This record gives sequence, C-alpha cells and structure tokens, in this order.
Amino acid sequence: MSFHMPTKVIYQKDGVLKNRDTLRTLGERFLVITGKSSKRNGSLDDILDALEGKYVYIYDETPENPPLDILKPIANKYDDADVVIGLGGGSPMDTAKAVAVLIENKNLDPIDLYNKEKYSQAKPIVCIPTTAGTGSEVTQYSVLTVDGKKRGFSHECIFPTLSFVDYKYTMTLERDLTISTALDALSHATEGFLSFKSTPFSDVMAIEAIKLIKEFLPRLLDDPENEFFRERIMFASTLSGMVIAQTGTTIAHALGYSLTTDKGVKHGLATAVFLPFEIREAKYETRNNVKERALEVLKIFDGSLEKFYNILGLHLCITFSDEEISNWARATSKASHIVSTPGTYNVEKLIDAYREVLEKYCYN
Ligand code: ZN
Repeated sequence: MSFHMPTKVIYQKDGVLKNRDTLRTLGERFLVITGKSSKRNGSLDDILDALEGKYVYIYDETPENPPLDILKPIANKYDDADVVIGLGGGSPMDTAKAVAVLIENKNLDPIDLYNKEKYSQAKPIVCIPTTAGTGSEVTQYSVLTVDGKKRGFSHECIFPTLSFVDYKYTMTLERDLTISTALDALSHATEGFLSFKSTPFSDVMAIEAIKLIKEFLPRLLDDPENEFFRERIMFASTLSGMVIAQTGTTIAHALGYSLTTDKGVKHGLATAVFLPFEIREAKYETRNNVKERALEVLKIFDGSLEKFYNILGLHLCITFSDEEISNWARATSKASHIVSTPGTYNVEKLIDAYREVLEKYCYN
C-alpha cells in the first residue's frame, strides 16, 4: 500500500498571519481566486495583510459549480501570476487549480485538462478553505462543469503546494451551508472507506472523520458559534480530503452530481442522500470484507444513517420527471466511480436509487 499527499498543511487558527513568510516565499505576483464571501469572513483581509508589498490580483467572481469556459479568460488576464491562491469553498479552490495549470501551460485548451498526457506542471497552488467539507485543500482533484455536467480531473501537479486550514473562517457559515459541506466530508470519508481503493492508512482517517461528524455536527448546529465544534468539523473535513486523495469517491458522488447540475441541490447534500443506498449495496458485497466495513459505518450511527439525517432535518426541495430520473441513471451507469464501488449497478437499480431518495427526502 502507499500513502501520497504532498501538500504542506498548516492547520492553525490565524495560520495565514502567523506563517506569512511561508506564503510570501512562494513568489512575487499572487492571483487570489475567490467568491464574495471571503470579504465577509475575514479571509481575504488576512491574505492581503500577509502579502503586503507583493503584487496581488483578485478574481472574486467564481460561480458555484464553475463551468470550463470561465478558465481561459482568467488565465489570460492574469497570465504573469506566479502563484495561484484558491480561497473559499470547493468552487474557488478547484478553479484555482485549473487556472494554475493553464497559466503554466499557455497553449493548453481547457478541455485538455482532462488529458493527463498533455501537461505535467502547474504554477504553485495555495488553498485556503472557508467551508468545512470539500477537502480540496489536500487533493489532486478539480471538479468543474463541462457541457452542463460535473466532471472532475485529477493530476499530481494540482496537489496544492501549501494549504492553510483555519476553522475561524467557517464561524459565520449559515446553517444550510454548514450542513451540506459537512455532509460532503461525511460522503468523502464513507465512500473512501467502502472503496476498493481504500488502504489501512485511509481507513484510520475515514473512521475518525465519520465519528467526528456524527459526534459534533448536531452539537455545532445547536451552538453554531462554538469554536471547538467548528474546529472538529474542519478537522474531519481535511481528514476526509486526505482519504479521497488515496481512494477517490464512489457511487454516491456520481449519483449526486445530476441533482446538483440539473436541480441546484448543494453538492454535499445531493451526495449524502445516496450514502444509505451505497452502504446497503455494500452489505451484499462478498469481496474485500466490504460487508464488515458497511456494518462498521452503520454501528457509528447506532444502526441507521437515516436516523442521523432526520436529526439534521435533511430535505430536498425539487421537482423532477420520470424522464429526468432515467437520464440521470443512464449517466451514472457510465461513471468511472463504479469501478471502485462495491456492489453491481445497472440502469434499473440506479433508477430505483433515485426514486427512493426522492420519495424519502423530497416532500413539501
Ligand atoms: Zn465531494
């Protein structure tokens, strides 16, 4: 087995300010890719303070689920940046990773990000999460939207050089975003634990992350300004990112993507509602002790993940047609995630999975 995660992670409150030299030595011209919330949560101010005297470009219009066609204009406009900082949730961090490749490889077409052979390097990437869930600060993945579908690429060169993980930026996250991002982390840990690519290293992190989320997410929702609870969920998120850097995600992510791109459901929520299905299928799997693993996850949730979801009050507010469900199932049946997912899947089974989730969580 192996474990590979080459990012230097500075995990500390006020980490950006206290380790400013580590950031400053990376270059002279920094491009910060972010959204509007980084002005509100104090993270952008910290970066500007830490980089005083350097050239700092700010692109603060990153949309949710960033489409491929925004990348080239950003890379062209800031083409002399020598460091790219992704500041925010998954969308700014994943955009920063892609832009760092395109600035380094000026002639690369954005669609060729999906062709590993066409490039080997990126500008140094710094990631600073301001939500607790995506784990992108410790992965080699970037998930973008291509022709209306979520599609991830993976490359060794987009592991961030440096990440600052500071729970203080999550203190003001509203309830819905706190839940959906934490559920993304829960999905990463659970899917990674069930994956055929799991290793004893990733297992330790996955189980710890699942336990932390079970223990602290409900308490955090009751007491959202509690720094200790915020920190525990942030820790779980980064651990879960380290898990999927080894294992990748499995079928719950593939199933959830359509609800996000077609119906606007937040990524973590869209994915987590399929975990009970994935765990149930894993219980029938005879290879690799997967059945025991599925039971181990359920035991953490006192036998039922759905009960935990009821405590959180999970609810999907969408309308859908039979045709949409079969299109989603067909797309999922071709997803690369299936190779590493325990169980066997065909379109009919995936249609049933969508129906079950929509019946259970979609009520008005
Ligand atoms: Zn995810």
